[in-house]
Amino acid sequence: MYCSHCGKELEEGAKFCSYCGEKVGSYSGTFPTKQKSTLYSDKSRLAAGLLQIFLGGFGIGRFYLGYIGLGVAQLLVSIFTLGLGSIWGFIDGILILTGFVKEDGKGKILEDL
Ligand SMILES: [Zn+2]
Repeated sequence: MYCSHCGKELEEGAKFCSYCGEKVGSYSGTFPTKQKSTLYSDKSRLAAGLLQIFLGGFGIGRFYLGYIGLGVAQLLVSIFTLGLGSIWGFIDGILILTGFVKEDGKGKILEDL
């Protein structure tokens, strides 16, 4: 076996590389969780949907997901329609909860409920 960090040959069963001191196998051990975190959003679909259903007139669920422009738009529409436009945010909350909205504002995947 070989060190994944410096590439030197290691004794069988060694826990640490004697050349560079790296933990043996640490790279392959952490890679899958790293990859998952770059693909999937750390935001909760449930939290975003509920925020948007109850506070959608202010675009809060969209702000939470990182859709700043859309959140501001929903807020402005509610103000200019004297609250009537908040129905948009409410419907948007249902779309988030039911899975029609698949990504957060950074394009990361929202996990299903
Ligand atoms: Zn090494």
